[in-house]
Amino acid sequence: MTKLVTDDLLADLNIAHERNVPLGPKTWYGVGGPAEVLATPASIAQLGELAVRCHEANVPLRVLGSGANLLVSDEGVPGVVVQLSEPAFTNVEREGTMLRVGAGADLFKLVLDSTREGLAGLETVAGIPASVGGAVRMNAGGAYGDIGSSVSRVQVMSGNGQVYYRDRADLVFSYRKTNIVAPLILQVEFALEEDDPETLMKRVKEIFFYKKNSQPMGAASAGCAFKNPPAEAADGAGAGKLIDQAGLKGYRHGRAHVSEVHANFIAADEGATAADVLAVISHVQQTVRERFDVELEREVVVWP
Ligand SMILES: Cc1cc2nc3c(=O)[nH]c(=O)nc-3n(C[C@H](O)[C@H](O)[C@H](O)COP(=O)(O)OP(=O)(O)OC[C@H]3O[C@@H](n4cnc5c(N)ncnc54)[C@H](O)[C@@H]3O)c2cc1C
Repeated sequence: MTKLVTDDLLADLNIAHERNVPLGPKTWYGVGGPAEVLATPASIAQLGELAVRCHEANVPLRVLGSGANLLVSDEGVPGVVVQLSEPAFTNVEREGTMLRVGAGADLFKLVLDSTREGLAGLETVAGIPASVGGAVRMNAGGAYGDIGSSVSRVQVMSGNGQVYYRDRADLVFSYRKTNIVAPLILQVEFALEEDDPETLMKRVKEIFFYKKNSQPMGAASAGCAFKNPPAEAADGAGAGKLIDQAGLKGYRHGRAHVSEVHANFIAADEGATAADVLAVISHVQQTVRERFDVELEREVVVWP
C-alpha cells in the first residue's frame, strides 16, 4: 500500500495509533485488508488536530463504527481510520427524556438501557448492530421505524476540524440517508418519551424476534446489501424480492453467496475475501438490471 501517512503527520499529536491494522476482524463481514493507520483519539481536541493535519496533507480520514455496514477491500485502506471507542466518545447523559450520546456508543446497549429506564423511541431499531454515529449516518431502521425519527440534535466535525451542531429543524432523514455531510458525527441527542419499561421491553423482544426470524443474523454480512429501489422503478418490489425472483438465492462466487434466508443479504463464509463478496454484488446488480431493468444501489459501504 502506498504510504500516505508520514511519521511527521502523527508526530507530537499524542494520539494512540497503530500502523497496518487488519480491519476484517473489526467488521461484521470479517474480510478485507488493513488500515494504513488506525487511530483512537481520546478527546474531541485530539480528533480535531488529527483532522486538520489530514486535511492539510490531503490524507483521507475515515471513521469506523461497529463495521456492520462495511466491506473493506482486500488491499486495505490508505490513510487514517479513526475509531471513536474512548470514553469521550461513548458517554451517555440523561436530561429528563433527552439522551445525549457519544457517537461511538453501542446502539444495541443503548436500546436496552433506554428501554429499562422507561424511555420510548429507540426500541424501533432494536437488533440493528451499530454504533450510534454509524446508525445516524445510515439512518438505520426497518419495518418498525428509523433512528432519525428520535434525533433532536447532532454534533459534528467538518473535514478541517471545526465542531458545530445541526439542529432538528435543519436535519433531513430519509430512507437510509441523512443530509449530514460533515465526515464526523461526534454526539447525538435523542428526544424520547416516557413509557412503561415492561411494555417497551415486550416491543423490543417483538422487533428483535421479527428480525431474527426473517434475516440471517448469524451470518457474516452487512445486513441488506442493496437499498430498495424507488417504488415506481420496480412496481413496489423490494431489492430482496427482485433478487429472489431473478433466481439468485444461493448464488455463489468463491466463498461468498446470496443468503437462502433473505435474498438481500450477501454472506461471507469462512475463508472468503472481499473480492468474493464484490463479485456476488456485481453479479446480482447485473442480473437484476438485465432481468427487470432496475439499478440496485449498494447499501453496504465499500472502503476505499
Ligand atoms: C446482521 C445485520 C443486520 C442488519 N440489519 C439492519 C437493519 O435492520 N436496518 C439497517 O438500517 N441496517 C441494518 N444493518 C446494517 C448496519 O447495522 C447499519 O447500517 C448500521 O447503521 C451501521 O452502523 P456501524 O456503526 O456499524 O457503521 P459502520 O459499518 O462502521 O460504517 C458505515 C458508514 O458509516 C460511517 N460512520 C460510522 N460512524 C460514523 C461517525 N461517527 N461519523 C460519521 N460517519 C460514521 C462510516 O464511515 C461508514 O461510511 C445490519 C447489519 C448486519 C450485519
